[in-house]
Amino acid sequence: MRTGILDRNGKDTGVDPFMASYPHLIDVGIMGHCVHGKTGLCAKAGIGCYQSGMLVEQPDMTVEDFRWITGQSSGRCNQFALGGRGDPDQHENFEEILMICREYNIVPNFTTSGYGMTSRIADLCKKYCGAVAVSWYRNEYTQKAIRLLLDAGVKTNIHYVLGKNSIDILVLEDVSKLAQFSKNIASINDISKITMDRNHSAWGEFSEEVADNDPELCELAQKVNNSSGDEQETALAEMLAYIRKPSSMSGFSRFGEDHDDFRYKWNGDWNDLLALAKRLWSGYGADEEGGREHDEIDFTRGIVESYAEYDLK
Ligand code: SF4
Repeated sequence: MRTGILDRNGKDTGVDPFMASYPHLIDVGIMGHCVHGKTGLCAKAGIGCYQSGMLVEQPDMTVEDFRWITGQSSGRCNQFALGGRGDPDQHENFEEILMICREYNIVPNFTTSGYGMTSRIADLCKKYCGAVAVSWYRNEYTQKAIRLLLDAGVKTNIHYVLGKNSIDILVLEDVSKLAQFSKNIASINDISKITMDRNHSAWGEFSEEVADNDPELCELAQKVNNSSGDEQETALAEMLAYIRKPSSMSGFSRFGEDHDDFRYKWNGDWNDLLALAKRLWSGYGADEEGGREHDEIDFTRGIVESYAEYDLK
């Protein structure tokens, strides 16, 4: 059955559904306060908490409320991501919460700092949870929690935030620690490169694929608009070359800010370039534009290279 939208005879209609009748995964915020956050360890690790876990103290979700939500989701939702302000494994009725999930046939998963992890909690996770993720806080309790979970046979993920600010520490310190937990990582040479690509699209003033406040570029666009035939083609080639020049003022654009380099992809259609020249000259940006942002983390050289790539049209 492809679509799940059935006719009166129970046959697939082939009509694609606009949305599911109920979420397949629900994030249930069972925690109201965070022991880990209150210790200041989270802030010390440089984490900005969108739940203000260091300051806000609210009661955790009651078992009754959790049962109410789970009852409604039974038979319609397959998984819960337990969360909220704090580590779900520190909920005062954690075991009961997990048992309710089992009762209603919903698989619970969650992410934890690992701060309060014990072998008993790890055993409960093994019995009831699909997977548990531990955030990498570069602390002993993080490593202890991962070890406890792995020893209990829990499917365990490590959430590691990698960026320009953590590449050095990954290379120098973390890889050897991570290697204790994964037979696939023995040294930095086992991970040579990770590339992360993000598609980007934007509207209005944020969407300009090249800076329209660059006088030289606008002058070239004007030349395109005031010419025709071979002369226009030459002017278009000049404009394209200028845009592709690394020293162009493309940095004025918001997309790709923080990237080391800007690149432009052009599909070879001169009409697209002509339209771009018109826009640059008239001062009106395109309504919507798109591109890609790339970050390449090179572990062997210990560097991150990033560039933003625009679609020129
Ligand atoms: S562990 Fe999570 S909820 Fe607690 S302070 Fe840190 S980020 Fe916030």
